[in-house]
Amino acid sequence: ASQQFKENLTLVATHEKKLELKRSACPKPGPGQALVHVRATGVCGSDVHFWQHAGLGPWKITDCTALGHESGGEVVAVGEGVTNVSVGDRVAIEPGVPCGKATCNFCLTGQYNLCPTVDFYSVPPKDGTLTRYHVHPAGWLHKVPKSMKWAEIALLEPLSVCLSATLRAELKLGQPVLITGAGPIGVVQLLCAKASGCSPIVITDLSSERLDFAKKLVPSVNTYQVDTKKDAKTAAREIVDVFTNAADMGVQVMPEVTMECTGVESSIHTAAYATQSAGLVFIVGVGKDFIQVPFMELSVRQITVSHLFRYSNTWPRAIRLVAGGVIDLLPIVTKTFPLEQADEAVRHSADRTKFSVKTLIVDGEE
Ligand code: NAD
Ligand code: ZN
Repeated sequence: ASQQFKENLTLVATHEKKLELKRSACPKPGPGQALVHVRATGVCGSDVHFWQHAGLGPWKITDCTALGHESGGEVVAVGEGVTNVSVGDRVAIEPGVPCGKATCNFCLTGQYNLCPTVDFYSVPPKDGTLTRYHVHPAGWLHKVPKSMKWAEIALLEPLSVCLSATLRAELKLGQPVLITGAGPIGVVQLLCAKASGCSPIVITDLSSERLDFAKKLVPSVNTYQVDTKKDAKTAAREIVDVFTNAADMGVQVMPEVTMECTGVESSIHTAAYATQSAGLVFIVGVGKDFIQVPFMELSVRQITVSHLFRYSNTWPRAIRLVAGGVIDLLPIVTKTFPLEQADEAVRHSADRTKFSVKTLIVDGEE
């Protein structure tokens, strides 16, 4: 069946730190590839960073790079040899595509996020998925049930980050857990901690609006507003008081695990002081190349510090969590823009004077 494709529309960030909506012809899938009509894309902090700095860490935009890596859509054409998806399938796009070679230890052992030559769509030189028609290696598309909304499919990407963190941190039933930062990652981490049965859960942020949002999302969560004028030890003591009061068992309660979702140095210090001895500070946040940590505090209290680089093997699980109703991602969307206004959507997400958690860009009907 021959289908009439529309003009393609793509949001790129340029090396001159501009956002541009580019029109082009609809691409064609090559062998092993599928053409996806992207129906929803979430804006990530890294999209904003790539635009405002023409790069992120070691990755620089030399000409222009399409933004976006949180996307879901419909397969509209397949290339030669594609058997895992067909036209009409609703799919989630896994944006990190590793080399997959038999000589790559990380690909071979299932830790493909650590493949040294992983292609991540939206990290130059790879274009992102904030476009109408995206060509993707078919093996990195995941079929989802018809019951899933486009927004839910798109947000499987940030869920994958937090799911990977949740599994690696081994969050457990009845475990006191601290989450530092109530941005998009912090609140998705909150949904994961709640679904894991952690209790009590305390979440921190500088912003009372973001804490109110977290509380609306998960009413049982306890919030702690960080005041940067207080030192980390004081903040940690006050956070432990929140745990102790929430548990109300007549004994002090400290978090066994802290899920650090800011990447901010002072927050990592607070996490180190607040976490129980022999506990875990699991750092999802990323930040400066070098930061100081309270080394002796971590040492004498035998605290483990772990890090995360994205995810591997998370999509099938994430799909089951959302489709099965265990995790509801829709309430984290605070505003939706049509693809024609994708530049405005990224500006909105970057605008600190306007409240937002997850900004979504859609093309076509729900
Ligand atoms: P965000 O910037 O939107 O949210 C961070 C939140 O932390 C904000 O609400 C901010 O007010 C709050 N905050 C800042 N300083 C604080 C402090 N001292 N104490 C408490 N809260 C504080 O970012 P996000 O999109 O939610 O992502 C969170 C972090 O996770 C970022 O560093 C991001 O780069 C990182 N990240 C890591 C991975 C990974 O693979 N490791 C993947 C995705 C995102
Ligand atoms: Zn590899």
